[in-house]
Amino acid sequence: MTENGGVTPLVRLENVNKHFGALHVLKNINLTVSRGEVLVVIGPSGGGKSTLCRAINRLETIDDGKIVFDGQVLPEEGKALARLRSEVGMVFQSFNLFAHKTIRENVTLGPVKVRGVSKDAASKRAMELLERVGIAAQADKYPAQLSGGQQQRVAIARALAMDPKMILFDEPTSALDPEMVQEVLDVMIGLARDGMTMVVVTHEMGFARRAANRVVFMADGQIVEENTPDEFFTNAQTDRARDFLSKIL
Ligand code: ADP
Ligand code: MG
Repeated sequence: MTENGGVTPLVRLENVNKHFGALHVLKNINLTVSRGEVLVVIGPSGGGKSTLCRAINRLETIDDGKIVFDGQVLPEEGKALARLRSEVGMVFQSFNLFAHKTIRENVTLGPVKVRGVSKDAASKRAMELLERVGIAAQADKYPAQLSGGQQQRVAIARALAMDPKMILFDEPTSALDPEMVQEVLDVMIGLARDGMTMVVVTHEMGFARRAANRVVFMADGQIVEENTPDEFFTNAQTDRARDFLSKIL
């Protein structure tokens, strides 16, 4: 109970390794995420950022090491895994909404199917969440009728509907037209302010500066650098990080 100044972290990765065939994509990763923390993960393409997120949610298995979530080692399979997974929201680059369901149905499906919430209660909650992300007026439309920025805000509402203990965001604004990026980041900044534990893979420095407690720079399957956002963006410690920043800034 003494890690991170007396609070148990929500997630702890210990010596986590992952290969895809001969490719070593996670190299002895050690990382903790505290409750209420916003951790931004940044780094070059192919560095293992998505695999890291997917491992935390057990969408990928790991070869060795362990991942402890909310005090429990992530189970391999079965009901225990399904329950833990339902406590970790995930928002992808590509929205991944159900195309043949309305916006409201997209947000109610999980709580009804996985949590056994009644349709009425789930629908009422969905409207509150859609209100929160500014999409309530679109509730009865289908995903294809919404802009990318709106769809991504629905994806966030859908994640919130499960009352997750944490949300993983994997490049949530990378597929958006530039004018839609901020509306999604604003929703995320709101969540951060409300105390949601978040792991966010993004190159959006404005977001990192405003919302992140910590930045992790990942390259070649390793955590190369870990720092506060201000330090990282103005005074990166490694050549690797400086070189990367010089390309995206
Ligand atoms: P990032 O998100 O940082 O771009 P990824 O985690 O997606 O990196 O990928 C890390 C490495 O693992 C890349 O070389 C990628 O090609 C490889 N990789 C990712 N997923 C798979 C997979 N399912 N099978 C084989 N190789 C994969
Ligand atoms: Mg990725």
